[in-house]
Amino acid sequence: MIQITNTLTGKKEPFTPIEPGKVKMYVCGPTVYNFIHIGNARPLVFFDVVGRYLKFSGFSVTRVMNYTDVDDKIIQKANEEKVSCETVTQKYIAEFEEDMKLLKVEQPDAQPKVTGHIPEIIKMIETLIAKGSAYVAADGEVFFSVRSFPQYGKLSKKKIDDLLVGARVAPDEKKKDPLDFSLWKPRKNEKEPAWDSPWGPGRPGWHIECSAMSIKYLGETFDIHGGGMDLMHPHHENEIAQSEGATAVPFCNYWVHNNLLTINSEKMSKSLGNIWLTRDFIKRFTAETLKFFLLSGHYRSTLDFSESQVREHQAALHRIYKALEKAHKLTQTDTNLSQPLTTEGNTADTFGKAFGAHWKEAMDDDFNTARVFGLVFDYVRVINAFVDKKGFKWTVEAKNIVNRFLSDMKTLSGVLNLFAEEPTAYLQTLRLLFLAEKGMSEAQIKEAILKRITARADKDFSLADQIRNDLLANGIELMDRGNETDWDVKFTG
Ligand SMILES: [Zn+2]
Repeated sequence: MIQITNTLTGKKEPFTPIEPGKVKMYVCGPTVYNFIHIGNARPLVFFDVVGRYLKFSGFSVTRVMNYTDVDDKIIQKANEEKVSCETVTQKYIAEFEEDMKLLKVEQPDAQPKVTGHIPEIIKMIETLIAKGSAYVAADGEVFFSVRSFPQYGKLSKKKIDDLLVGARVAPDEKKKDPLDFSLWKPRKNEKEPAWDSPWGPGRPGWHIECSAMSIKYLGETFDIHGGGMDLMHPHHENEIAQSEGATAVPFCNYWVHNNLLTINSEKMSKSLGNIWLTRDFIKRFTAETLKFFLLSGHYRSTLDFSESQVREHQAALHRIYKALEKAHKLTQTDTNLSQPLTTEGNTADTFGKAFGAHWKEAMDDDFNTARVFGLVFDYVRVINAFVDKKGFKWTVEAKNIVNRFLSDMKTLSGVLNLFAEEPTAYLQTLRLLFLAEKGMSEAQIKEAILKRITARADKDFSLADQIRNDLLANGIELMDRGNETDWDVKFTG
């Protein structure tokens, strides 16, 4: 049974959907005015895996992720670039979708935009006003009255009175209470995007969109609401207050929050100049490396990005893909030879038989992808120990073990959205990226190999050794196989 840590209760709980066999899930999507960075990619990759694993576990899953396409930042960007807000949002929705494609994450079942749901939002605000949970200020701004929702703070475990004491919210004359937040903002000038409403032309505040759109697509109560921990308060807290204020039924049963990503232990921010765009990262290190890195820690822990961390993950991916490539090559040959397994063969066999149950156990335990990776490393190690052992024979028994390894990894790759690339092509990509970083080309290496072959033919072994050592100093390893010499990157980490 799947266990999920529910922020709402603060506990790890067995997952039971409202309707048996069906999961309804909402994740806060991007504000579309910029390219996404690798911190934004974390929930994208993680909640994709959550959706995939729920499907793998037999649930039919409906996933919704919104686009915030009306916002101060969008208006600012449009003004800076002297274009319309629509031009900005169309561009960055397209760029976001391109990043989703690069990451190969599944398209949610619905990706509603705020601008397409103004009537639903207005209707919800009207309900809140009618129920006394919201009020209209003189200039037409509508506020949610936090005092009207006594349970406010139940998600982030903050008490209204404590929030008021520590509130750095500037007392706003329009607001009755400093914690009250905007549901509808009147238009400030003609250039701002605006829609007609009972309170005059204006646009929705940020929080109300997620309440209105999640309820429209998933119903008044749904199963899972996801997002980054930085959204827990006030955004998610406000979503609960608005939704439950309007419907009087529980809004969402399981709140799942992924922790944040830091860069060299610092917050990623424009002012620090340490922002890594998802796209730039993928270009330099591959999408596999990014996904592998983002899933390498438990989603509830912070993840610290550093170049050495990335190198380690590349090295691990290289090792895994090497094992996959080797296994693929082995299974190209048929065999009728039958003989008892070696000690290493028995170890690999026992490990393989239990692998399926073990990784599912780890995923059932609050989507523990880090533990799954540990199992994958062990699997690769026992397979390597078996097939690399001197005297290894390609037998019927060996074939069963290697085939099972490939099929296990394929099943897993469908859930983790990882390890699914064609191994030989992917290893080549890793090699070429490595060379590009070193400012070297494949032709240069081939030339060095030829030079070394000539040196050896001339019995100039010191030159031959020097060529090998020079390459090794640059992270390139030569491997002699009979008369042929192969090369590979020696990933460290
Ligand atoms: Zn949201």
